[in-house]
Amino acid sequence: MQPGAFSACTFEISDRRIIVWNPLSSSARRSSDIAHELGHILLKHQVQNVHVVGEMTFFGCDPEEEQEANWLAGCLLLPRQLLLTHVRRGMSAEDIAEEFLVSVPMVNYRLRVTGTLQQIRR
Ligand SMILES: [Zn+2]
Repeated sequence: MQPGAFSACTFEISDRRIIVWNPLSSSARRSSDIAHELGHILLKHQVQNVHVVGEMTFFGCDPEEEQEANWLAGCLLLPRQLLLTHVRRGMSAEDIAEEFLVSVPMVNYRLRVTGTLQQIRR
């Protein structure tokens, strides 16, 4: 077990989903990884392929579904209205990252792609 060797995965056991994450990851990385897995669950993605590396077996979704899960993860972690409210209060990207246990690059990414920065500047 190493910090970057494994992020997270979801197991389906009868009607339950169990997300397992790397406890050695930073809290920001962990939040992102868990939100990504939640994205797969909410979007009802199914396992598309199986990779075997050494003695480990990994299940994956198709690349488009990975993008969808990534996008939804960002929306779940930092909804546009939340960003707008906190930026209007004068919070910096660093403040928002600390408050919501996400990385500063994630906050900056969401500020850009949601149009929040453009709206604040008008
Ligand atoms: Zn994924």
